[in-house]
Amino acid sequence: MKTKALVLFSGGLDSRLVIKLLQEQSIDVEAVYIKLPFGSGCCNDFQCVFNYSQIQGVKLHVIDCTKPPLFNEYMEIIKNPKYGRGVSLNPCKDCKLFLLKKAKELGENIKADFLATGEVLGQRPNSQYKSHMILIEKQAGLDGKVLRPLSAKLLPETEAEKKGLVDRNKLLAIEGRQRKKQIELAKKYNIKYPAPAGGCLLCEKDYCKKLKEFLNFKEKLNIKNEEIQLLSLGKHFRSPLTKNKIILGRNEEQNQQLEQINQTLKYNIIIPKTIPGPTAIFENIQDKELAEQLIKIHSSKNNSKDKSKKQFEKLRI
Ligand code: SF4
Repeated sequence: MKTKALVLFSGGLDSRLVIKLLQEQSIDVEAVYIKLPFGSGCCNDFQCVFNYSQIQGVKLHVIDCTKPPLFNEYMEIIKNPKYGRGVSLNPCKDCKLFLLKKAKELGENIKADFLATGEVLGQRPNSQYKSHMILIEKQAGLDGKVLRPLSAKLLPETEAEKKGLVDRNKLLAIEGRQRKKQIELAKKYNIKYPAPAGGCLLCEKDYCKKLKEFLNFKEKLNIKNEEIQLLSLGKHFRSPLTKNKIILGRNEEQNQQLEQINQTLKYNIIIPKTIPGPTAIFENIQDKELAEQLIKIHSSKNNSKDKSKKQFEKLRI
């Protein structure tokens, strides 16, 4: 029987290389792409992820955490991380633990001999120090069962290496943030890869300011994925009357996006017909008057726009 590995595939260069390195050892590789509500930190373009798996002849599994019930499970760790946060709201250790647990379940189902990740020792603070990696895999019940081919020679030998399922001599000893070695390997294997993208929204200060404010208001209530999507869209105001939100589109494209998201969210919506102004969606009907005022002052027909806007600026999130 051929050895089978399940690779946690983010779509970025590192996990692309891991697929190649393991295939070179004649290991049967399957990959799992775990779609997260705030982006996966590498490649958020699913088509790109899918294309690579097809080119390499790898079976791709997708675990979608942007929809219930996994969405709710993930949001729990965002609200109450056990291992703290990074520079912003990013709970990287808890997030990695979540990813490993989900991959472990899948690995057991497909009878993979081991899991492999594209993690590189010391590449990212918070979750890629040796002690953190070991702690996370222990907590996931995967002690010694996660292979990190790019840094394997700098890490304790895993079960798969001890059993001879994978040849440690052919694994690498990459460390740190520089990607020189990975870029050389990409050339050698002729791998196309995406430029490191904006990645995880949980690391972005402006976004997290809105998310934090949102979580303070929604802490005890059920959070919907669409509400999370809205945080990176439009201008947000908090009503002093109801404490609910009013959101205005910034341009035509965003107006349409608001309309589309609202088909699921079912907030109240105003699409101005008589004046050229932004679409507004708002949760509480008691905020209708305020929503209308906001539309009016953000209308391109409003001459005293700047002066009026200031009155409402204190409601802005
Ligand atoms: S940056 Fe941290 S929180 Fe964001 S996806 Fe990566 S591990 Fe998870």
